[in-house]
Amino acid sequence: SIIKTETTDELLERGFDFFVKHFPDSGKPDKLGIGPGRVNLIGEHTDYNDGFVLPMALPMVTIVLGRANNTDICRVVTECSSLEEIKDSNKTEFKIPTVKPLYVGTPKWANYVKGVIACFQSIVVGFDAVILSSVPLGGGLSSSASLEVATYSFIEAITGNKTNQLVHKAMVCQKAEHMFAGVPCGIMDQFISVMGIEGHALLIDCKSLEYDPVPLTESNYIFLITNSNVHHELSNSQYQLRRYQCEEASDLINVESLRSATMETLNKAHSNGKMNEIIYKRARHVITEIERTITAAEVLKRGDYKTFGELMNASHNSLRDDFEVSCQELDQLVELARKVPGVLGSRMTGGGFGGCTVTLVDRNAVNSVVTIINSEYKRNPKFYTVLPSCGAKIVRL
Ligand code: ADP
Ligand code: MG
Repeated sequence: SIIKTETTDELLERGFDFFVKHFPDSGKPDKLGIGPGRVNLIGEHTDYNDGFVLPMALPMVTIVLGRANNTDICRVVTECSSLEEIKDSNKTEFKIPTVKPLYVGTPKWANYVKGVIACFQSIVVGFDAVILSSVPLGGGLSSSASLEVATYSFIEAITGNKTNQLVHKAMVCQKAEHMFAGVPCGIMDQFISVMGIEGHALLIDCKSLEYDPVPLTESNYIFLITNSNVHHELSNSQYQLRRYQCEEASDLINVESLRSATMETLNKAHSNGKMNEIIYKRARHVITEIERTITAAEVLKRGDYKTFGELMNASHNSLRDDFEVSCQELDQLVELARKVPGVLGSRMTGGGFGGCTVTLVDRNAVNSVVTIINSEYKRNPKFYTVLPSCGAKIVRL
């Protein structure tokens, strides 16, 4: 019951049919933007604290396929219907957005597309386009960033205005999510979706935006993603709250961000009585997680998967106990996986309160993990084994 990821070619084939069905009077689509989803291996809730993250791009991608229509209107249809929000309104039509408002328009999903167009660096022309995706929506594998990055890449193809400033591209996509979808995300998702390198995870310094490719070549171990199939509603409000709590901690320690704090400076601030326990625990997670992430990249480079797995476990425990962004379902998935011989480590990945776990496991033990989870976990889990894949692509067809 491991899901076989649809290839980009398969998506594309369906995309052509879907386009013709929805835009029978347009010509054949001739431009394509591709943006992958991502899984973060370690370094959670560190990006907005100027810290380090270690994600890899996934073979699951979103594609935006279409052609210019010589008007100032964009007509977009998404094929994805797994979400209630999309079911009744998978089509949208809008004038090329030029202003950059902080608003939530309808349908909600179209804001990700509009945001990227509005924030694009040069004039955009009207187009007809379809969206297809092999990234599960709202599952913590960053379908949102993959949609933004695919849209940006598509617009690059449409306008012929291709940027070679890839960090800028990621930042525009992040800005689109902030201003049009109202999600104050860090830079990680868009960054890895743009920059991903086949066969590598990237250690990203979210402060300097420099990155260091970390090869993942050891073939005995692979990453298994398990989708918990739950998404608790409090996730957005809790995300906001965590950001405030981290800011409060850095104010009390008197540093610009928790990146510049250490356990020593944290303990000092805590001991003078001004910092409450909750803020202390939140900061402790971020400080230790940044440390773990740097170490994790080092040990991976040496091929020390065992230590890497231990760091993954420690990361999960810290997210569960100190940062308190896990949930019963994620904890159960992680605990079940850890029982299986051949599993080196397992943790929640993404913002938390649902979404996915990622497990480092001996190839020969993958089926045992799937079996035990299927028998004990009652919420229809989905499994993916994934290899590190490449970042965004811009294609003229
Ligand atoms: P995640 O990024 O973890 O998948 P988010 O809640 O950040 O979850 O983003 C999911 C949202 O992004 C969806 O609710 C939808 O609005 C939008 N979205 C992502 N992919 C698509 C798609 N292929 N078609 C339409 N909307 C999409
Ligand atoms: Mg997202």
